[in-house]
Amino acid sequence: MEEQPGDETPAPFSFMTDELPRDQMHCWLTYTSPDVHDMLRTGFDRSPMFNGTIKSTGPRYCPSIEDKINRFADKSRHQLFIEPEGRGTYEMYVNGFSTSLPEEVQFAALRKVSGMENVHMLRPGYAIEYDYFPPYQLHYSLETKLVEGLFFAGQINGTTGYEEAAAQGLIAGINAVRRLSDLEPVVLKRSEAYIGVLIDDLVAKGTEEPYRMFTSRAEHRILLRQDNADQRLTPYGHELGLASSERRSRLDEKVAGLRRTRDAVERCRVEPEDVNGYLESVGTAPIAEPTRLDRLVVRPEVSLSDLVDHLGRRTELVTTIPGLEPADVLVEIDMKYAGYLEREKELAGQMEQLESWRIPDGFAYADVTNITMEAREKLARIRPDNLGQASRISGVSPADVSVLMVLLKRGNGVSSVEAAT
Ligand SMILES: Cc1cc2nc3c(=O)[nH]c(=O)nc-3n(C[C@H](O)[C@H](O)[C@H](O)COP(=O)(O)OP(=O)(O)OC[C@H]3O[C@@H](n4cnc5c(N)ncnc54)[C@H](O)[C@@H]3O)c2cc1C
Repeated sequence: MEEQPGDETPAPFSFMTDELPRDQMHCWLTYTSPDVHDMLRTGFDRSPMFNGTIKSTGPRYCPSIEDKINRFADKSRHQLFIEPEGRGTYEMYVNGFSTSLPEEVQFAALRKVSGMENVHMLRPGYAIEYDYFPPYQLHYSLETKLVEGLFFAGQINGTTGYEEAAAQGLIAGINAVRRLSDLEPVVLKRSEAYIGVLIDDLVAKGTEEPYRMFTSRAEHRILLRQDNADQRLTPYGHELGLASSERRSRLDEKVAGLRRTRDAVERCRVEPEDVNGYLESVGTAPIAEPTRLDRLVVRPEVSLSDLVDHLGRRTELVTTIPGLEPADVLVEIDMKYAGYLEREKELAGQMEQLESWRIPDGFAYADVTNITMEAREKLARIRPDNLGQASRISGVSPADVSVLMVLLKRGNGVSSVEAAT
């Protein structure tokens, strides 16, 4: 097998972890082969996924090994990552070999994989089939529209994945507790969290196959970076009593450090003789007169970190923030992409305007004759909470949204119309 080392400097998930141990365990890479595929094929007639026992749609993104050799029959091998389960165990996870084939076929096929000739199988792979409730039957709080006080989270809403389940569980839990005290539900926007994108996709559109969160589903993903997750969400967490004061003060320290670094970079003027050597070495035009550092950072070829080191002014310009990659990296992202970030914020702001038009629960779509039949049917089925959600339902056009806006302004079709703040 080929050794697959981890990151040289592993980055922790948590903003509270300063550093991870460098001595990470390695994974290993190996491949299936035509021999392995032949062995697997001997079990196809007993696979519930092939013999008709399981009829539902599987997750598109993690096909079983039998699916892979069936769908990609021209491929003579598929890669398998062998991942240690931990330091205190000899158990390894075979990533890429999910399967519902009979146990003895799995075992025989594994032993044909290069490097696994003497393998012991501790537990066989398996598949499950599950049902779900169409998630457009939920409010954004994840409370069900049909049964008051009942909240749904996770696979029951048509998603697959640990993180998808955890994210919904968090929001459903928060909102179930808030409901007990008659507090407004916590609803994250699409422009401020992947949780917001996930829940909005589910509630506004429903899903026909196991839903998985991808960065590509977020239109404002330039705003949703892991380096600013704490800036986006820790203030909410702290306000809700979920994030500790220690976490909050760490965030405040980070924000202050970034501001100090940014100010220092903006104030710093550099002389041509100090930077032209560096500028030419990265293939960008030299400067003819003293120039502000932030003007140079926006050039795609220029790296703020390298420039600061080239000038020998790191201690003076860059604030050290505990547990974080150097502040100049984050400040550089903000400076380089400032134009795009501003534009995204503007677009997000326009969408929020629509979100503030609340559609009351009993809105009589059947009486709205001047929108398309398709829009009427979908709106009546999904019953969006607001105009923003209505606008994202496929089949509801901007013209339909304008009609609804006029009706909401007039208070038609319902006993009372409230425009949420
Ligand atoms: C073999 C396999 C491998 C997977 N691999 C991955 C992976 O690598 N990465 C990934 O992200 N996701 C993976 N998934 C998907 C992921 O495990 C699920 O999407 C996720 O765990 C769903 O969480 P959940 O809380 O919605 O449901 P579950 O974890 O299924 O929790 C539902 C709970 O409700 C309990 N329950 C059911 N009925 C009742 C009842 N009547 N009363 C009381 N309790 C009840 C069940 O016992 C269960 O504990 C995998 C799934 C399978 C089956």
